[in-house]
Amino acid sequence: MLFWNKKKDDLIIQCSVCEWRPDGEIHWACSCGHRWNTFKTKGKCPGCKKQWENTRCPGCGKSTPHKDWYKTKEEVEKLESTGDLVLRREKEVS
Ligand SMILES: [Zn+2]
Ligand SMILES: [Zn+2]
Repeated sequence: MLFWNKKKDDLIIQCSVCEWRPDGEIHWACSCGHRWNTFKTKGKCPGCKKQWENTRCPGCGKSTPHKDWYKTKEEVEKLESTGDLVLRREKEVS
């Protein structure tokens, strides 16, 4: 399902890898040099209008598809109950 078809109220934005959640700060820089909060524009640079397919997580440094950041409550609960053990261990270490 495309993330913009999900009910907006139910959406939680978080990293698929480490569960980092955007804090409203500017963590992203485009190849054009523009810096912005990518979740305000769904991954599109306001400077050069480049649409970024992947978003780098400031928490773990991994790039994942931007749409994968948008999760429903159900998806988050499922992840929390079946989360990848290796990734969880990495999270605890860092
Ligand atoms: Zn992360
Ligand atoms: Zn740009």
